[in-house]
Amino acid sequence: MARYTEAKCRICRREGAKLFLKGDRCYTDKCAYERRPYAPGQHGRIRKKMSDYAVQLREKQKTRKMYGILEEQFRDYFKRADMKKGVTGENLLSSLERRLDNTIYRLGFATSRAQARQLVRHGLFTLNGRRVNIPSLQVKVGDVLEVRERNRQSPIIQEAQQVIARRGCPAWLEVEGDKLKGKVIALPTREDVQFPINEQLIVELYSK
Ligand code: SF4
Repeated sequence: MARYTEAKCRICRREGAKLFLKGDRCYTDKCAYERRPYAPGQHGRIRKKMSDYAVQLREKQKTRKMYGILEEQFRDYFKRADMKKGVTGENLLSSLERRLDNTIYRLGFATSRAQARQLVRHGLFTLNGRRVNIPSLQVKVGDVLEVRERNRQSPIIQEAQQVIARRGCPAWLEVEGDKLKGKVIALPTREDVQFPINEQLIVELYSK
């Protein structure tokens, strides 16, 4: 599977926002973006005036990289969001939030989306009692996610649980931390995506 190998903190600095790509470190004062909130490289501190197109492109790249999705796949998400009823930008964010890897991350069973994706691929979770290993799977209301019995003592899961206690869980999910079990109780809405994303810019970019 294709994946980004660039240093994660450089991505945040280039996009000019905290994208929470490194797990617990992102919530501490060791965060590279907190320390150096400007683009990486020799000319990173020079502020350039961006065209409308560049602003839209950066917003799309920021969102795509935050969810760890490749360009082609992201465009497919947009096409499907555009075909659905409702506001395209909100549909897009809802589909991204409903990815299985993101749901695992939001439940607190992993410290970052990248780690969640890896754990899903390794089959550490069950969905409605059946083992799953597809990170892009879309969860539905009523779905129950659990850490498999044999993986409950895994140090990664134990560490992630401590992080969720500090981070909290969004309103569309319900988590029973002691049982390592979570449930989807509603579809995510725009308010549930608390990261600074201007989805309208993405819609404008793809609508050209
Ligand atoms: Fe981004 Fe900061 Fe996390 Fe690095 S530590 S990935 S700069 S949020």
